[in-house]
Amino acid sequence: LSESVWILGDQLSPTHPGLAPNRRVVLIESLARLNQRPYHRHKLVLIISAMRHYAAELRAAGYDVDLRVAPDFLSGLRDHVNTFGVQHLYCLAAAEYATRQFQHRLTAELGIPVTILPNTLFLVERFPPPRSPALMEPFYRMMRRQTGLLIEPDGQPTGGVWNFDRENRRRYDGRPVPPPLRFPPDTITRQTIADLAVACPHAIGSVEEFDLPVTRAQALTALDDFITHRLPDFGPFEDAMSAEHELLFHSRLSPLLNIGLLDPLETAQAAVNAYERGHAPLSSVEGFVRQIIGWREYIYYRYWELMPDLLQANAWQAERPLPAWYWTGQTRMRCLHCVIQRVLQNGYCHHIERLMVLCNFAMLAGVQPQAVNDWFLECYVDAYEWVVTPNVIGMGLNADGGRTATKPYIASAAYIDKMSDYCKGCFYDRKARVGPRACPFNTLYWNFLINHEERLRANPRLGPAVLGLSRLSAAEREAIAAQAEEVLERIEQL
Ligand code: FAD
Ligand code: SF4
Repeated sequence: LSESVWILGDQLSPTHPGLAPNRRVVLIESLARLNQRPYHRHKLVLIISAMRHYAAELRAAGYDVDLRVAPDFLSGLRDHVNTFGVQHLYCLAAAEYATRQFQHRLTAELGIPVTILPNTLFLVERFPPPRSPALMEPFYRMMRRQTGLLIEPDGQPTGGVWNFDRENRRRYDGRPVPPPLRFPPDTITRQTIADLAVACPHAIGSVEEFDLPVTRAQALTALDDFITHRLPDFGPFEDAMSAEHELLFHSRLSPLLNIGLLDPLETAQAAVNAYERGHAPLSSVEGFVRQIIGWREYIYYRYWELMPDLLQANAWQAERPLPAWYWTGQTRMRCLHCVIQRVLQNGYCHHIERLMVLCNFAMLAGVQPQAVNDWFLECYVDAYEWVVTPNVIGMGLNADGGRTATKPYIASAAYIDKMSDYCKGCFYDRKARVGPRACPFNTLYWNFLINHEERLRANPRLGPAVLGLSRLSAAEREAIAAQAEEVLERIEQL
């Protein structure tokens, strides 16, 4: 075999376009990449165990597989090329910017032709957009048309509308939450855990609770479990938060989608099938399809449009360091305490907690976007730069000047209280803006509106929020500003 295909740890698809009977497969466990940051142990175990299972499955299917540990990708590839006399290397375009740049240098580095195939693990590369919509909603509608999902023969959306957002904003009502399936570590995963304990001494989190799928078959079982048990309630409780239930009715499929064990189209199609057989309501199914072929693809698409400038964006000139309690959860703010604790434990919390608790606080407090981005990249099991950076710097912190989301997602305790049970039992008073027990979200929210009144007023989507400012007297404004100053001074002790 004189040809090889190099498959990255986030490209473990059974239908990887570079697989061919006349090609050897090379997979590299790069110590430099694994230690590029102190990543969450769940993520490292997931990727390496899934790579090892994938290699075993390809071997069983008749492929010649070279799975090797190397100091870095380049030395691993050089050794592979020399050992097997490779004359042509194939790879799938990396989802992350720096790795794709590296792939473009490979022909020169290796001295053999290197072909980079389009990354069709993303639908936007499989069905390239006829034009470039800058906003999520037209992008999503275009993707619905491109894929035909929930589209009637006359080209209209199933159910007559594109959006069920209004039905999908309920607070959790205490109904039973079916727990997600657990996949206890097998021999390969246990070995991976032992190997990584040595190879990645600076990783964060513990691996004791590791229970994620690591094979294609397990990923399909997890998908089926979500569709059967949680999809029907997914839509209405999509934005709900609960101190008791980490997952509520979310899918927990992002770690699998992001490494290629699940395909986005088959995942969205599985939800549509559930609607067609009467198992789940349209509002839940459309809500889920929107996440997968809308938001997920839009984020990837924007990442490639906005890089590399996106990494440095700081449109609100926010310069405060990230409070140290983001790394411990030691804060009296109950919402942040609960959410950070679960992230440190499992590398997961759901979307609204990422956006409206973690990023919301960071934005209101003026935390430096790159510090927040780093925290997200390191702490989550599903974190990759293509998905973290547009979500954090773009959507969560609005630091890209509104190029990912048209409004800053900021809110006071009123929103958190409406959508969760965090505020009951919190040290802070969810109703107060000033005073010793005032919720810091309130103080900082109103202070943010006061400080940026003119700029926010210019944004039509924020009109109603800023209008609230006109009800504040000069004395109230002063009191808020003074309290905000004091809150920010003792931010580490909140
Ligand atoms: P579900 O609620 O079940 O949603 C289904 C799927 O939709 C997800 O699995 C995911 O693949 C997709 N999806 C929904 N929204 C988005 C989005 N905005 N961007 C990309 N995919 C989306 N997602 C990641 O995969 N990795 C990250 O590191 C990540 N960081 C985020 C950081 C911030 C600040 C925010 C606001 C969002 C982030 N997201 C990230 C998007 C989203 O929060 C997660 O995909 C989702 O919470 C994963 O849990 P789930 O699989 O249970 O999602
Ligand atoms: Fe969070 Fe404020 Fe509610 Fe406490 S009162 S849980 S700090 S929003």
